[in-house]
Amino acid sequence: MTGAAGSAGAVVEAARVDDGGPGDADWAAAEALIRELPPDGRVLLVCHVNPDGDALGSMLGFGLGLRRRGVRRIQATFPGPPEVPEPLRGLPGLDLLVPSTAAYPDPDLVICFDAASESRLGELVDRLDTAGAALVLDHHASNTRFGGVNLVDPHAAATSVVAEQLLARLGVALDVEIAECLYVALTTDTGSFRFEATTPAVHHLAARLLATGIRPGDISRRVFDTRPFGAVRLFGEVLGRARLDVSAAGGRGLVWTWATQDDLARHDQRPYVLEALIDSVRCTAEADVSCVLKQTGPAEWAVSMRSKGGVDVSRVAVALGGGGHRFAAGFTGRGTADEVVERIRGQLDGALLPATGA
Ligand code: 5GP
Ligand code: MN
Repeated sequence: MTGAAGSAGAVVEAARVDDGGPGDADWAAAEALIRELPPDGRVLLVCHVNPDGDALGSMLGFGLGLRRRGVRRIQATFPGPPEVPEPLRGLPGLDLLVPSTAAYPDPDLVICFDAASESRLGELVDRLDTAGAALVLDHHASNTRFGGVNLVDPHAAATSVVAEQLLARLGVALDVEIAECLYVALTTDTGSFRFEATTPAVHHLAARLLATGIRPGDISRRVFDTRPFGAVRLFGEVLGRARLDVSAAGGRGLVWTWATQDDLARHDQRPYVLEALIDSVRCTAEADVSCVLKQTGPAEWAVSMRSKGGVDVSRVAVALGGGGHRFAAGFTGRGTADEVVERIRGQLDGALLPATGA
């Protein structure tokens, strides 16, 4: 699949083996799991808790691909409340979704998408044991390889890149529905082609997805550029209380804010609207590191962290029980917002990167 990339592609391929990316044996094993499914085999697709565009997009795109191959018994699910964030409610393949409580208890095959560790599967983690086989598709460097077969490519910009490669190996052609799912996933994880992970291969894949006839303007407006007026007002309030410490992280700077459950209730908003907040906070010129704390319980916060290249925030996240990518990571923090921020500060100096950045 990377043949068209020429000699530069070959160099990248060689480097991948060293980084523990999938090798030929992994691809062959993954392909075999699907090709050897019994005719009435039950496949359960699972993505991470609080699914984002890459989690849902890669899972549903792959599920539609399996359907095109003639697999009839497919369920897709994720842990927690079966609520799809409003911006993702236009995704093709949503009819594959079932609540986690209705998911096959003992599928022939379970396939996990965009989950770096078992803990991201919540109450569905038992399927790793009860399923006939477990396949993991992911792109987090921190992935713990918790499947029987693992297609984990830390060089891939999104899990959807891995999903598309496997579909191609299975002989599934891209159609407009599969492409829309994979495009949403790719644009989500590359920040609409703005992040460092936006390689020539990403644009090649985007070109092939667009060639199916999907409408990028409509998709972006729906997924990224639409939110309720209440969320606009909520953002105003939460951004208004942001704090900046230019001396944190060895002088690289830290900016942070927090949103409580009360904030959400006052503006009558659902938690997913807060996912976009980090993009407004990380604009801060004076800070390399940005954080948003989103309250999930009386003393519990889902923490999002971003870096512009001066700090490895995945190290901070892993040290505090979470995970993610070098420049985008998260964890669950306990205590008051101030206590959680203090714990982050305590990890920043140990996560500084050389001034030359990546
Ligand atoms: P976000 O801030 O967009 O929620 O997440 C950024 C990155 O960090 C994503 O790759 C996501 O998978 C990872 N991440 C966020 N929260 C957690 C967490 O609580 N645990 C782990 N392991 N990874 C997380
Ligand atoms: Mn992802």
